[in-house]
Amino acid sequence: MEVRDRIYIDGSWVKPSSDKLTQLFNSATEEVFAQVATSTPEDADKAVAAAKKAFKDWSNTSKDERSKYLAKITEGLQARTQELASVISKEVGTPVTLSQLIQVGLPTTTFSSMSELITQIEMEDRINNSLVIKQPRGVVAAITPWNYPLHQIAAKVAPALAAGCTVVLKPAGLAALDAFLLAEIIDEAGLPAGVFNLVPGAGREIGEKLATHPDVDFISFTGSTEVGSHIAELAAKTIKRVALELGGKSATVILEDADLSKAVSGGLFMCYLNSGQTCVAQTRMIVPRSKLSEIEERVVSETATYTVGDPFDPMTRVGPLVSRSQADRVKDYIRLGEQEGAKLIAGGADTPEGLQKGYYVKPTVFTNVNNKMKIAQEEIFGPVLSIIPYDSEQEAIEIANDSIYGLSGAVWSSDQERAIKVAKQIRTGQVEVNGGMFNPLAPFGGFKQSGYGRELGKYGLEEFFEIQSLQL
Ligand code: NAP
Ligand code: MG
Repeated sequence: MEVRDRIYIDGSWVKPSSDKLTQLFNSATEEVFAQVATSTPEDADKAVAAAKKAFKDWSNTSKDERSKYLAKITEGLQARTQELASVISKEVGTPVTLSQLIQVGLPTTTFSSMSELITQIEMEDRINNSLVIKQPRGVVAAITPWNYPLHQIAAKVAPALAAGCTVVLKPAGLAALDAFLLAEIIDEAGLPAGVFNLVPGAGREIGEKLATHPDVDFISFTGSTEVGSHIAELAAKTIKRVALELGGKSATVILEDADLSKAVSGGLFMCYLNSGQTCVAQTRMIVPRSKLSEIEERVVSETATYTVGDPFDPMTRVGPLVSRSQADRVKDYIRLGEQEGAKLIAGGADTPEGLQKGYYVKPTVFTNVNNKMKIAQEEIFGPVLSIIPYDSEQEAIEIANDSIYGLSGAVWSSDQERAIKVAKQIRTGQVEVNGGMFNPLAPFGGFKQSGYGRELGKYGLEEFFEIQSLQL
């Protein structure tokens, strides 16, 4: 069993002021596979002090110097891809091949892209007699969730370091081990002491300490809308800058002229990805009533190909969920869907056959869902699809937008222009048009209660600057 009983503050692995260890459970076996240190608010204080002290010199390093450090971190991640992928598959339940690609490949790309982007970005602008300068925001507190744990960390830490900010990271309790591995990689890259600090611990204690700390300048948070709203409230007292990446209830809109085979495949992939533990999961499929029964048949037969099982078995497409309580919560939603009168056509709340151990949930499909139902409005965070019929294009758009969330979605049509026109009317931060691929350099973030601020690429980097103007 892996035991990490030290936290990373001011360039050293130090004992936290509590002996308590947090247990991490293997989501496929339910066994404890690692124990990690638990920081206290006192430790968080020390980490912020170290980050504040380090900011002075770090913010004055050259862009090239910071770029080189990020390139070294990229190499460190590349060298440990297999190990990291295996750790995250145990933590979260992601099938290991997908872990390599998404859980580790994507954050590696983020570090390398930020290494490059910082050398390209213009730091100064001249407006008449003014010199307008981009200044790093200062001490950044990054608070991250467990579903794509390393990706969400990288989306904050990489641009923060590139911009010249220093960082205190509070990773998710359920998936903290990968953050320790990243801290080792950062340590080996030789960053100056205090530039990066790791304080794992309870959200309520450490997260709130960081959100209220007068020496934290910027909070970058990814997680639930409930906690994000609470953090913004706490941060308001000291006028901290806040960026929030929150939940979603994204829709696949299938227009009646779409290639149904591609649309259904694309929609299901984006629903079941990472067992539905994906903030951009397309958990509503909005379909023309005239094609409802054909789409139902396709969905049911294709759902049967999503083999549930051990994340380390190459045949597995859907692994377990992250924890017992998440699996129970998803099963409760499935029972609720039945009570609400939606028609269950695949899966269900019972345990998948032969998988008594592990936090498994069957890929589940409801049809004839009314968008007012809770299963269509609330983020389930599991492999559960709601098929919702519509009668006109306008109604399809209205249903897609009838959500407190505004994170993502998709439009399918054989007419690309028409699909783009519909996509522009969907009030979400990103929309996939006819299966357009995820772009790690495109801005990522939400409309409405899915949050504010953008991550990744040049827009993501810009979030870490304050603008200063010197009148000359
Ligand atoms: P969460 O409960 O909101 O937790 C996120 C982070 O906040 C964790 O590090 C957590 O610590 C911490 N936290 C919890 N309570 C806190 C408090 N009172 N004050 C300060 N920090 C606190 O979310 P989760 O359960 O980890 O993740 C699932 C949710 O995240 C879903 O709603 C999902 O949609 C959303 N999400 C959004 C995006 C996006 O980019 N838009 C990406 C991924 C996930 P602990 O781990 O110790 O509880
Ligand atoms: Mg939580």
